[in-house]
Amino acid sequence: MPTYELIVYGCQMNDYDGEKLAAIMEAAGYERAAEGDAADVVLVYTCAVRQSATARALGRITSLARVKKDNPRAIIGVGGCWPAVESDVIERACPHVDFTFGTTELENVPAALAEISGERGPSVPAEVSPLRKSWPRANVAIMRGCNNFCSYCVVPYARGAETYRPADDVLKEVEELLRAGFKDITLIGQNVNSYRRGEVTFARLLKKVDALCDGVFLRFITNHPRDFGDDAVDALAQGRNVARHLHLPLQSGSDAILHAMNRGYDMNRYLDVVSKVREAVPGICLTTDLLVGFPGETEAAFEETYRALEEIRFDSAYVFIYSSRPGTAAAALEDALPRAEKVNRLQTLAARQRAISLEINRGLIGEETVALVEGRSAKNAGEHAGRLSESKIVNFGGKARAGEFIAVKITAASPWTLRGELVT
Ligand code: SF4
Repeated sequence: MPTYELIVYGCQMNDYDGEKLAAIMEAAGYERAAEGDAADVVLVYTCAVRQSATARALGRITSLARVKKDNPRAIIGVGGCWPAVESDVIERACPHVDFTFGTTELENVPAALAEISGERGPSVPAEVSPLRKSWPRANVAIMRGCNNFCSYCVVPYARGAETYRPADDVLKEVEELLRAGFKDITLIGQNVNSYRRGEVTFARLLKKVDALCDGVFLRFITNHPRDFGDDAVDALAQGRNVARHLHLPLQSGSDAILHAMNRGYDMNRYLDVVSKVREAVPGICLTTDLLVGFPGETEAAFEETYRALEEIRFDSAYVFIYSSRPGTAAAALEDALPRAEKVNRLQTLAARQRAISLEINRGLIGEETVALVEGRSAKNAGEHAGRLSESKIVNFGGKARAGEFIAVKITAASPWTLRGELVT
């Protein structure tokens, strides 16, 4: 059997696409190469959301030139968001790449391989189930693409306009996962809140999935503060299995910058959503994304973001430095802020957030709660790692099996993880 290696970068949607691509390759007669073995086909699935992501992928793709040197018949393909927006860069920098493919062309990969090798491959069934590699957790795509055109973001260009999966397909996939024993299901999409298929809105879909997920954590990501309506707040609060976690990207605490980012909401709207969610689900874990150094972000605008961090007190925040992406509206704006100042702003926010996260997590010490055991702890050898409904990781010792829910008492906290002991 010919072998393949698959290297996936980026977000949960890319992970999901990677699982689908693996299933397509195996349906087409390829076998995953053993770790360290040279593969007949190497596929790199890329992210283009930040310049650092494409630089990382470029480094890896460049290094694949030696694969071709050792085996001139090897085939190298590059897919995902990056070739959709900068295929010319890949072609120029990496002449050893045989073909590129977009996020909607996964099914065409075996045909492209057959054409390049000159060998006819077996036909691939139209419907393949993703080859999951994340048990007991699994992602289910409910929509793809994005219509929002935030001025800094390449996703609408890379992944195209929004498309929504039929609700019945989503429910069928969730049922299959539950039958296979998955215990933590995440509905994913670039903006799940804008899901609408006929009469089924995001809130209605969440309720339908919740009704299936008895005794399983049900999550969804990612959300948009403009589109997270009262019906979504209700579905989050009333869902018996919906996890107590909301990731709600803020990006900036300055109305002027939010406007320049074309985000479609202001701080009033964001704070309104937060207060409704916190009122409906007291103690919910709230996380966010922040972007510093957007063109025109003055010191005063940055301070507004800092104040928003203080006021909202997120459980955690992913802070990124703005980088210009090709073809976006913001790429035409003057990006005058020195890199050192952007780094300074990132570090200032990250340090304050670390302190807030630690305060919040310390407040959980002494609580007894339920965690889903995910596997071995990455932090403490010989221990297990579990995930709470709030999506926080708790490390603990004792006997436990991946995939089981356990009762745990929180005994210590860091900004990033918790420590606990089994409650018998
Ligand atoms: S909502 Fe904005 S940031 Fe999110 S994927 Fe769409 S364009 Fe990008």
